[in-house]
Amino acid sequence: MKLVRVGEPGVERPGVLDDEGGVRDLSALVTDIDGDLLADTGRLAALQAALEAGELPAWDGSRRFGPPVARLGKVVGIGLNYHDHAEAAGVEPPAEPIVFLKPSSSITGPYDLIVVPDGSEHTDWEVELGVVIGSPLRACDDPGAAMGAIAGYTAVNDVTERAHVQQGPTWARGKCHDTFCPLGPWLVTTDEIPDPQALRLELRVNGTPRQRGSSANMVFGVGELLAHLSGLMTLEPGDLVLTGTPAGVAALHPEPRPFLRAGDVVEIEVQNLGRQRTAVVRATGVA
Ligand code: ZN
Repeated sequence: MKLVRVGEPGVERPGVLDDEGGVRDLSALVTDIDGDLLADTGRLAALQAALEAGELPAWDGSRRFGPPVARLGKVVGIGLNYHDHAEAAGVEPPAEPIVFLKPSSSITGPYDLIVVPDGSEHTDWEVELGVVIGSPLRACDDPGAAMGAIAGYTAVNDVTERAHVQQGPTWARGKCHDTFCPLGPWLVTTDEIPDPQALRLELRVNGTPRQRGSSANMVFGVGELLAHLSGLMTLEPGDLVLTGTPAGVAALHPEPRPFLRAGDVVEIEVQNLGRQRTAVVRATGVA
């Protein structure tokens, strides 16, 4: 299923795409798409059955798509997890995953605005495969078994202020800002993504291709990442794991580096996970 949440910010309602790409309303069956629902395989199966039986009403409300998961728990990011990205950065691929946390308050919808913080001159993009957890995972050292904890996949832009990252000592300041985690448009359940290591990822800014990669190029695959993380923390239903970005970020572009400016439009696409289109604005003042 391609699960969606549609409606104005804060009052989105749950839906699912039908075979024609139309939105069907799930709000008579579930209150929202969140960790509680994703942990409940019986209810998910009932939604699938209702969809296949053609029993779900067509959507008749607002057409704004929100983030496809409500009340996300933690957002765990992974740094330098693509061979081509590490190579472009002139560093060896990391020996173990580089882990950072991003606040859930940074999440925004797939067609919302990216707000560049005041004083920021180095806001950058990162198209990524997002993994949403459906069942608790703790101290699992088997990557194959860890895959069983996944509810689905979604497209993410891990927006990053490079100057803030470089101010250190952690990356949090460059990753934390509101609107720095456009998510969606769809949460695609695992049955529709048999191989998460074979997905094309693309990002364009104002129509210019900037990133074009494949999840086959990850240093640590999805199962390895989840197993590693589960040794550090319990992954819980409704948590989101960002799996790293391929080459092509602005920070590693030859000068002049094309960091995001007000008026830019960022489009990302992850194969089978849909397309985002986000416009960039300044928090206040002019770009
Ligand atoms: Zn990232």
